[in-house]
Amino acid sequence: MTRFAGYRLLGCPTCQAVHAVANLVSFNLMSFETWTDGQKVHALFDHREGVRQCASCDGVFLERETLFMGKARTRWRNDEEPYEIPAFLLRPANEPVWTVQRLREKLGAFFAWVMRGGLPAPASTHTDTGTSSAAANDTYVEYPDFCYVPDTALAGLIMHGSQSDELMLALRKLYWRYLNTPYRDTARRLIEKGRDPTVAFMASELQTSNMRELLALLTKYRPEAVVTRAEIHRELGEFTAAVELLAAWDGSDEEANTILKAARQQVAAPVPVVYAWQRKTPMA
Ligand SMILES: [Zn+2]
Repeated sequence: MTRFAGYRLLGCPTCQAVHAVANLVSFNLMSFETWTDGQKVHALFDHREGVRQCASCDGVFLERETLFMGKARTRWRNDEEPYEIPAFLLRPANEPVWTVQRLREKLGAFFAWVMRGGLPAPASTHTDTGTSSAAANDTYVEYPDFCYVPDTALAGLIMHGSQSDELMLALRKLYWRYLNTPYRDTARRLIEKGRDPTVAFMASELQTSNMRELLALLTKYRPEAVVTRAEIHRELGEFTAAVELLAAWDGSDEEANTILKAARQQVAAPVPVVYAWQRKTPMA
């Protein structure tokens, strides 16, 4: 079951535009179809490898590269209840010297804080002009969602090349799955006709070069992602490397077992992973 409690306010790392992201308390990762390359079809929740796009400046970044600005109960900017009690309001009660003058100062600071939209002041010093006063007048405005980068934009972003390695890793992983999608459509048709679809898979030059780049990034930054690395070796036709990686791995799950079985059969095609709860329906 997917539920959420409030929102996190996250700022774009480039232009600092604030976006609201629902706080997921528990979420359902179940999908109708899961493939060995990690593609989930009809998933209730797709994280898209954390790749997000700013609704304001169109910058592309990872969600963990955003600036944490605070929490909110609703996504409305004029939320009457402050979502976070500022430190200067918590402090006075414990302070020994407590005068009317100080109380007036604290209240003045509090109202200034509310007028700024209840947002903690951004790190840069020149924010009390322009943007923040415009934001204060903007009552009843919703914080936007981050945009999701569509598959069709991936090639352009990868070619652009100025991304951080971590972002490039995420982009290439999405691109890998996207390039496998035409095969998935073919495979479904062939499975329906009771034929072996795996003979129809032939990695193109583009797929091969993307997989090689992705594998290099994974080996450098995610050596622990053994199952994914083994799957890429397998799709590149390097079955021995795939089997060796998985044989030395001390984990075991349905994805890994499916990949190992296909590698031993020298099958390079992406394969649907069939989970125990799905076995009621016969599937290849
Ligand atoms: Zn931005």
